[in-house]
Amino acid sequence: MSQTQHFLHELVGSMSQGADGNPTVAMIEAAFRHHGLHWRYINLEVTPEDLGTAVKGAKAMGFRGFNCSLPHKVSVIAHLDGLGESAAVMGAVNCVVRRDGRLIGENTDGKGFLKSLEALVDPRGKSVVLYGAGGAARAIAVELGLAGVRRLRIVNRSEARGAELVRLLRDRLKVDAELVVWRGDDRVPEDTDIVINGTSIGLYGPAARLPIDLASLRPGMVAADVVFNPVQTRFLAEAASRGCRPLDGLGMLVNQGIVGVRYWTGIEPDAGVMRRALEAAMGV
Ligand code: NDP
Repeated sequence: MSQTQHFLHELVGSMSQGADGNPTVAMIEAAFRHHGLHWRYINLEVTPEDLGTAVKGAKAMGFRGFNCSLPHKVSVIAHLDGLGESAAVMGAVNCVVRRDGRLIGENTDGKGFLKSLEALVDPRGKSVVLYGAGGAARAIAVELGLAGVRRLRIVNRSEARGAELVRLLRDRLKVDAELVVWRGDDRVPEDTDIVINGTSIGLYGPAARLPIDLASLRPGMVAADVVFNPVQTRFLAEAASRGCRPLDGLGMLVNQGIVGVRYWTGIEPDAGVMRRALEAAMGV
């Protein structure tokens, strides 16, 4: 009896600048190994000038897709064949998927956050306060809007960036959104269900303080952070001490990886395997 073995090395990549030590490589490759896929996920250092050529190259070489991070999340769109729903609304792509030979841009950041959030609470009909209006906050706000939140209060230091996000939420998704320009300590409204730090405050800074009035946090509120390094941020620790239910940024990172693997391979990867591999790579 003859036996045929298929050692087909499908390729997926991560296009970024300064990609060395990207811990998501360990997470994605752990999923491939666990599910017996002879695939590779590789870091590709790509400069903004070379992005178009790199995307053409990935297509020509039959890549199943790739992630892209800053500074390519917006500029990559010009080199793709189409966009998924939320990527089109937010105008940013962090995950590219080859479908029927076409490269389609998706955004898995917000989807990863939502999946992680849904383990604690269904966002439909909920009142949300979101700090920040940068890339991560924008992705989260759009997914929350698509998921049917009741109210979205965007609090941002820069008025222009915050106003642009609120406009997008109102005009494109018909979300009841308002902007609060962040000056001093913000008070979380009493009827809030979910409070999210979508800023980079706390990244690599365990002592960094989110300027909010802690006394306005109430027991039972979900307090989520996009920052995943450190995993336990000061905001999460303080919110937990006030009886809030904390949600760390590692869950968002793992879940955006899960969505990517699902898009590229069609399988539902094991979340535990991916989280453990990510934690080991990050040393947490
Ligand atoms: P951006 O640079 O696009 O946005 C940064 C945001 O933080 C802006 O709203 C900015 O406000 C705000 N901000 C920064 N410093 C301050 C400050 N001192 N006071 C008030 N506001 C401040 O970054 P990203 O959105 O791409 O990333 C934000 C964070 O999300 C990072 O820590 C990143 O690591 C994390 N992230 C986590 C992911 C995960 O899977 N867990 C995925 C993607 C990102 P302003 O507009 O006024 O400048």
